Amino acid sequence: MKSRIKYCIANFKMNLGTKSKLSEYFKPFDKYIDTDTDSIKIIVSPPFTVINQAVDLTSKINKNIKIGAQNINENVSGAYTGEISIDMIKDCRINYVITGHSERRSIYKENNKQINAKNRALLSNNIAPIFCIGETLEQRSKNLIEKTLREQLTIGLNNISNSKLILAYEPVWAIGTGKTATAEIITDTHLMIRNILNDIGFDGQKISILYGGSVNRNNAKDLIALADVDGFLIGGASLDAKHFLDIYNIIEESI
Ligand code: PEP
Repeated sequence: MKSRIKYCIANFKMNLGTKSKLSEYFKPFDKYIDTDTDSIKIIVSPPFTVINQAVDLTSKINKNIKIGAQNINENVSGAYTGEISIDMIKDCRINYVITGHSERRSIYKENNKQINAKNRALLSNNIAPIFCIGETLEQRSKNLIEKTLREQLTIGLNNISNSKLILAYEPVWAIGTGKTATAEIITDTHLMIRNILNDIGFDGQKISILYGGSVNRNNAKDLIALADVDGFLIGGASLDAKHFLDIYNIIEESI
């Protein structure tokens, strides 16, 4: 079944966050993107400093290019120095937010419970989480893949019935390392994730599951051909607009 929406999502991380770099980045977009289909969406997630500028620029290029945030605070307001609330990003017309990214789990010690609070707060505001899950190399070597993913999904989606979310399977060992997961690993794991989703009350066939981890223009064609892969979350290769757009075109051609 391949009727789920496809996504090509860029995560700039702490890069391209100045006005001049961002406007340079979007220059090739109107030449390369001529789609008016709703079956594929591009979401670019820049740093907060340029999020308004990104919304303004892309809204003039194509309605299927959306801007996402890389993080959000789960609280409504208050004494949280340096944090950004959901009301603030709603005001910037943001409809997508990355949650559970492995860098936030490992560097900022976000746990499954806190990620659940973010997912719940976003969905109750009609904003779609791009919810990342994935095992570390150590968990893989100890045969803890299913346990890890089940825990991330069960706790991360606790008390949620809204299935507007997007999932990204990002094996931690594949992020930024150049070591893409094999077709076999991705196929098995995406199927495992759909089964876990069914077990916890979602329709696993309806939710788009993206793969993330060293995706580039050379491996994207083989990966998007896999039955359960509904697009990509892309870090490094998304920093070059033409490279990112090549991957977008590969996804579009696969539809
Ligand atoms: C990521 O940071 O989510 C990611 C997938 O990075 P990269 O594409 O660089 O592996």
